[in-house]
Amino acid sequence: MSTSIPQGLQERAAELRQLLNRAAHAYYVLDAPDLEDAVYDRLYRELLDLEAAHPVLVEADSPTQRVGGSPAEGFRSVTHRVPLFSLDNAFSADELRGWYTRLIKVLDREPPSDSPLPALAMVGELKIDGNALALSYENGVLVRAATRGDGDQGEEITANVRTIASIPLRLHLDHPPAWVEVRGEALIPDSTFAAINGERAARDEPLFANPRNACAGTLRQLDPKVVAARRLDFFAYTLHLPEEWSGQRPASQWESLRWLEDAGFRVNPNAALLPNLEAVEQFFSDWDSRRHDLNYATDGVVVKLNDLRLQDAAGFTQKAPRWAIALKYPAEEAPSRLLKLTCQVGRTGVVTPVAEFEPVSLAGTSVSRATLHNADRLQELDLHSGDTIIVRKAGEIIPEVLRVLPELRLEGALPLELPHHCPSCGSDLVRESGEAATRCVNSSCPAILSGALRHWVSKGALDVDGLGSKLIEQLVERGLVRSIADLYRLDTALLTSLERMGEKSASNLVAALEQSRSQPWSRQLYGLGIHHVGEVNAKALASAFADADNLADAAVLQPEAITGLHGIGPEIAQSLQQWFSTSANQDLLQQLRDVGLTLAASDQERQALADRSNGSGQLSGQTFVLTGTLPSLSRSQAQALIEAAGGKVSGSVSKKTSFVVAGDEAGSKLEKAKSLGVSVLDEAALMLLIQDSADSIHPL
Ligand code: NAD
Repeated sequence: MSTSIPQGLQERAAELRQLLNRAAHAYYVLDAPDLEDAVYDRLYRELLDLEAAHPVLVEADSPTQRVGGSPAEGFRSVTHRVPLFSLDNAFSADELRGWYTRLIKVLDREPPSDSPLPALAMVGELKIDGNALALSYENGVLVRAATRGDGDQGEEITANVRTIASIPLRLHLDHPPAWVEVRGEALIPDSTFAAINGERAARDEPLFANPRNACAGTLRQLDPKVVAARRLDFFAYTLHLPEEWSGQRPASQWESLRWLEDAGFRVNPNAALLPNLEAVEQFFSDWDSRRHDLNYATDGVVVKLNDLRLQDAAGFTQKAPRWAIALKYPAEEAPSRLLKLTCQVGRTGVVTPVAEFEPVSLAGTSVSRATLHNADRLQELDLHSGDTIIVRKAGEIIPEVLRVLPELRLEGALPLELPHHCPSCGSDLVRESGEAATRCVNSSCPAILSGALRHWVSKGALDVDGLGSKLIEQLVERGLVRSIADLYRLDTALLTSLERMGEKSASNLVAALEQSRSQPWSRQLYGLGIHHVGEVNAKALASAFADADNLADAAVLQPEAITGLHGIGPEIAQSLQQWFSTSANQDLLQQLRDVGLTLAASDQERQALADRSNGSGQLSGQTFVLTGTLPSLSRSQAQALIEAAGGKVSGSVSKKTSFVVAGDEAGSKLEKAKSLGVSVLDEAALMLLIQDSADSIHPL
């Protein structure tokens, strides 16, 4: 190895080779992966980049130098007549364009500088997450079926493949060529996958990680009857014919797919002939949400140059064709390196450890922090300084650290644990036996007060604009605000004396606070931040108990009146009892009344709540989903209007959704509504629907 390469990089490359080779063996040979696919992909990409920057780092045993894994033992190994390849990956539109630009260059079709790249027709196919099969036909008859193996040699599994009903045992051709090689993807439908894992769980056998591994495991069953029972499916996508065959041969990938169909294969119906790169991008984004409605797993789109002569001209790299690329959907999991462990103190004093790590792109957004939940989780993860961690973020879910890779731990790394003192006020942290949470119990801890203030002004609570975390911290640090009620004692002159606070923002904030006094009782109750009283529970409680005194009496003297409410359990009743019996909280309620908050339902609100509980509102029984930005209403205003008219607002679209209200930049929820045939309204149509209620009730 050259000494000009920094030692650290050589070690990293060796580490990655070892880790990836071990993972590839678990994946391809044992059908039991020990890394998530997306994590494998990122680490593989890191090794590829290292090798590209320092070619001397390339070793013969590098996973970048070979396709797949070695054939497993137990099956006869066969040499493919035409080798099978892997595919290069692209993870973004930029990488797709990079691939296309290189392709144009290889084909010697570069335009004069500044002119756009020429458009070449491509075929877009779904990248089915199954297992590639090589099928060999002689004189029209299936004589051999094999796995891809290492690309040159695979495992012979003809008896098993014969049980797949969508693979013709004889081609539907009157004059078949002497030989035909077909490539395609064997797969297990999602429904069958769930059933197989159900049976394995019942027999206490290890579960398959995903349908692709279940399919690979099934194809390698020694008993074809088991394979037949699992009802695999197959989509054909590649055709090889003898050079000398004089029959009608396809000139393009698109024609090959038609040829395969005519010969009796199932071809995926979702392929499309795409005239240019823009159409490819559109195809990719169209399938991003639609693919989840299919009964089989897909992880991207395969883009192939359509013209077979151009494919020949472009040729192959060592592992993959230059004329095709697998464009993958954004990963939900990825590796990153831990930079530091910090702690957040919430409004209830609970201390949450947070991992801060090198930014990674997950589910389409850049993520650099994730919760570690509590001390137990921290211990379970066995987190050390500088660890490589696997981070997950699925859709709208808060990012979390799934696990660490101890194989990549740095020498001398120290184990990490929660601090013993509150990072905000320095007092001892307490963990009661049987409780998962570690808490700061100092009621004047600035972090707890800041948390309570942030919650009070948040969207779902009093919804006060212009009071962000930074400003709250300043107010608390300077001792200008010692309780929620103090917010209502702030005046423009005092606010203007703060950092980065102009007169205009200060008076806007005072006005916003003033306006927030008339927020409904349910929001005020939610804003108090009582443990277990979220927005939904606060609404239920506020509709049963018209003011804070009523609720306090019930909580302390008559908890059964609370547990009698629909959806309110003993845990909530107990939490309310504790809260209302604490004298500091009674003081807070008094102070809030002193500064003019009613802590009670208004007449209008009482009527709306009564209508809703009788189910007599205009929209009662109807469920709405809001998506995108509406032209004049904020989300919470639209929600309040719908609820005031007796409707319900839900976060996700299903067949039961009555209407989706869509504004600008509506995303996947709108697409889902369309695919399920749910009616879509714009703001104006929503307003028409609730006209009568809108006339009488203002946004709450
Ligand atoms: P690949 O799966 O990224 O792409 C090539 C394969 O795509 C082909 O062999 C074929 O089986 C399949 N394919 C599906 N639809 C296709 C279509 N329409 N046209 C052509 N091919 C289609 O590459 P690979 O070499 O099979 O495997 C690498 C991938 O396997 C990695 O990206 C990784 O996600 C996964 N892997 C994971 C681990 C792990 O530990 N989790 C280990 C090794 C590999």
